[in-house]
Amino acid sequence: MQKKTTLLQCPSVYCDDRVDPTSTLHALFKRREQLIAKDGSKAKGLSFLELEICEMIKTTKRQQDIIFYGRRQGWPTEIKWQDIVPRILAMQSDLTSMIANDDLMTKSLVWKTLNSKLTQAGSSIKAFSKSRIGQLQTPQRPG
Ligand SMILES: [Zn+2]
Repeated sequence: MQKKTTLLQCPSVYCDDRVDPTSTLHALFKRREQLIAKDGSKAKGLSFLELEICEMIKTTKRQQDIIFYGRRQGWPTEIKWQDIVPRILAMQSDLTSMIANDDLMTKSLVWKTLNSKLTQAGSSIKAFSKSRIGQLQTPQRPG
């Protein structure tokens, strides 16, 4: 059975995006309504607000698509933090094979992003790896 919701339509002139509403989007649409009620469709800041709503709809839609995809794949919806370290360590041989595959690594967005961020921070993959050795043995919960 599919959930029935009223999709929000993007207010931008050249955009047909629709999305399941969120509280943030409702707040932005309410602000837009107030702006139009006060100063009309040519209200100062209205175009910028509509661009902000457009971006928020695109971001929200991507998040909702990823959640939908993950649920269909049977991915967990909660993280069992105590299981992270043993799960990663169990993948050690697969991860080592991946890291040793230059062709795969040069195509990896995650690897490229990590490398770029480390370079921006004045570090390197090698230095980062050395700094993390041994830390997998002492897991800490976030927050
Ligand atoms: Zn849009």
